[in-house]
Amino acid sequence: MITNTTKRFLASLFITIGVLFKNRKTRKFTLIPLVIIVIGFLLPQKMIIPVAGATTSDWDDNSFWAYPWGSSITHKGIDIFKAKGTNVISSTYGIVVYTHEGGKGGKSVMVLGPKWRFHYYAHLDQIDAFAFKPLSPGTKLGTVGDTGNAVGKPPHLHYAITSPFPYWWLREPDVIQGNRKMFHLDPDVWLRE
Ligand SMILES: [Zn+2]
Repeated sequence: MITNTTKRFLASLFITIGVLFKNRKTRKFTLIPLVIIVIGFLLPQKMIIPVAGATTSDWDDNSFWAYPWGSSITHKGIDIFKAKGTNVISSTYGIVVYTHEGGKGGKSVMVLGPKWRFHYYAHLDQIDAFAFKPLSPGTKLGTVGDTGNAVGKPPHLHYAITSPFPYWWLREPDVIQGNRKMFHLDPDVWLRE
């Protein structure tokens, strides 16, 4: 699965880190962020379905990366259907990064969880969260709605997980927008575990 490009990238990454470590002036500035990054990846992740009372049959397991999907081109998350007003809850431990109102997502919440994964909750009817709020799995974030580009559609939670660190092995060059798949994780995989 590991391609030559990946091997070359990893080799140059380790060489760069090695060089920065050898130099006493740059050592500290390399070590601190590295330790923080590693700790983030080591944090355990316990995940639950982010809509109260929902089961695995409340979303279509083929909807992740479905194409065509309007102006998004591919669907980079899953849609969990439940009645308007049902509680939307945090799927993991985490911290609220921001809440937002407007655009495609309507009322939405962005959460940073373990392993540097960003969890996006969109189309909420009501937001019950604020930036920097710490979360446990099950903490209420708001309620299911049909805001943003879900107006006129059955109420649902659009739930997506992204990572700033690429998962090379998830790339699918033959699929539409397939190179971007290394930054988008399929929530279905994690919620079925
Ligand atoms: Zn969606």
